Amino acid sequence: MVAAAGSRPFEQQSGDNPFALRAMAEGGKDQGATLACCVCGPRMTSRPYRRIDGFVYRRCKGCGLVFLATDQNVAAAFYRDTTKGDSPRLAQDKAGRHSIEYWSVPRMFMKHRQVFERFFADRLDRLCQAGYSGGPLLDIGCGYGFFVKFLVDRGLPAAGIDTAAEQVAWARERWGLDLAVSAVEDFVPAAKQEAIVMADVLEHVWDPVAVLRQVRQMLVPEGVLAVQVPNVLRGLVPPGHSWGVPHHLWQFSRRTLGRVLAEAGFRVESWSTGVLGVIGMYERGGPSRRERLYMWLARRLKIGNRLLVLCRPKKTVPATSALPRRGRKARDGTD
Ligand SMILES: [Zn+2]
Repeated sequence: MVAAAGSRPFEQQSGDNPFALRAMAEGGKDQGATLACCVCGPRMTSRPYRRIDGFVYRRCKGCGLVFLATDQNVAAAFYRDTTKGDSPRLAQDKAGRHSIEYWSVPRMFMKHRQVFERFFADRLDRLCQAGYSGGPLLDIGCGYGFFVKFLVDRGLPAAGIDTAAEQVAWARERWGLDLAVSAVEDFVPAAKQEAIVMADVLEHVWDPVAVLRQVRQMLVPEGVLAVQVPNVLRGLVPPGHSWGVPHHLWQFSRRTLGRVLAEAGFRVESWSTGVLGVIGMYERGGPSRRERLYMWLARRLKIGNRLLVLCRPKKTVPATSALPRRGRKARDGTD
């Protein structure tokens, strides 16, 4: 899926070349606001975590969240790059083989629609298990609208937003979907949503906590939020993990994503992992035995390279209650 943009246009900060970022990430500290842990704030110290392709990730000493040492919001450059995705070269390029789903291009979708729809059905199942009952659903970072199309075909009132104007125009023209060109930060839905999906979005935004707090306001009180991000297993990295430098500002694990969600007012209901790169496997003639084993293990042992978390807004304490938590519990028997 194509992600929704952060609020600060890349062009205004570093010209047109996203790879100028590399030099800035390596040597360019103190050139403006530097990315800091979105849970603990800029005063919390961090230590180097990994160096990937010249970029440095740091790990917060307070909560363990891993973030890119950068002062650049690269989201806008990422969207521009997505327009390059629909090229035969990308599908053949070894370096791009894990990116095939990542770019979610129409040619790949049409060719492997059944595979895509199997994953979409799984995602919808999980949403329903978390309480979604068929009300308004918003896909933030909908890209070409493949998931929205899947839902609409099943009679569900689904809509989407994305900052990628070309992709949104394609989906509107072809399928007549209810999609809007907008960054999540700028979007106000006409009605509260029963479910919101953010697949491969949160790792791109400058302030995930602020974005999630805004998303919380878009949901009904009993709504469901599904967040999918690339998965790191604490210090370990699952096969096929896409670091996504310089576009992935954050590297989440289940634990650190849980902290981010909690900080934004969400309660995690369930989580699972899957595998990114499956379409690439089908492009190469279908998953090998080894790849099938990995996909099975990813589901059973939750060690896949994609993390899916289902959560709901936390209930706020009634303003009238001034009693301490334990006192309330003793009185009315609730937690
Ligand atoms: Zn932190």
